[in-house]
Amino acid sequence: MTTDDRLRLLVIGAHPDDCELKAGGLATLYRNAGHIVKYVSVTNGEAGHQWRRPEDLAAVRRAEADDVATLTGVEYEILGNRDGRLLPTLDARFELIGLIRRFQPDLILTHRPNDYHPDHRATSTLVCDAAYMVIVPHIVPDIPALRVNPVIAYLSDHFQKPVPFQPTIAVDVEPVLERIVDQMECHRSQFFEWLPYTMCQEERFPTDAAAKRAYAKDFYYRLNGPLADRFRDLIVQTYGGERGNAIRWIEAFEPCEYGSPLTNEVKRRLFWMLPGQG
Ligand SMILES: [Zn+2]
Repeated sequence: MTTDDRLRLLVIGAHPDDCELKAGGLATLYRNAGHIVKYVSVTNGEAGHQWRRPEDLAAVRRAEADDVATLTGVEYEILGNRDGRLLPTLDARFELIGLIRRFQPDLILTHRPNDYHPDHRATSTLVCDAAYMVIVPHIVPDIPALRVNPVIAYLSDHFQKPVPFQPTIAVDVEPVLERIVDQMECHRSQFFEWLPYTMCQEERFPTDAAAKRAYAKDFYYRLNGPLADRFRDLIVQTYGGERGNAIRWIEAFEPCEYGSPLTNEVKRRLFWMLPGQG
């Protein structure tokens, strides 16, 4: 593969660990094929803990993200916006426009605009507001505008109102499931400290390595396990009946209307790993 053939995947989450949880499998498939992947956390993650001080937590989470980068070869940027306080301001929009232009992604993945977490909603709004503007030279004029609006797709969620998640892409991630859990395990302050606390599972704080692995896997299974049965028809349509009915773990993506259209030709390029795309 020559340098020019490499695809560029940009995953934009609100917090360090959002990208891994919803697109860690696709990112692994991209990296395994030699493509370029960048994770962005739009906030610094300083709020997600019950006893670490925000300024300390931001540094801890930067180190955890660095571990993910070392493990996967993904470039990992954490922006300076404060966790739990993100707003879709012009400054934040312009920062994101600059980031997208510099990275020149073929595909951007981000949260949907309806979501339980205000930072996720604001991140989605910021990406949608940056779409199209990335090709407008008079906006953020010091960074050259893109000629083509990237394809944008939403990460999965389970929220039903005002509209449920409606994916058109389902990727079997079982072959890379352990690599997703590896990435989660890097976020020690979250999966082994903060998230058990948020679920009132203080008695379940995992301590040894085996318990930590089991906790991370269990968390992933609870969060993303239901996706395969929710979107079984799409999986069967994509992979055929025999494999489609056997697939247990997927990542799913819904095209965003504000990005370039995900035509069949573009889909063959960006999701080459799906059957019948070669
Ligand atoms: Zn988040």
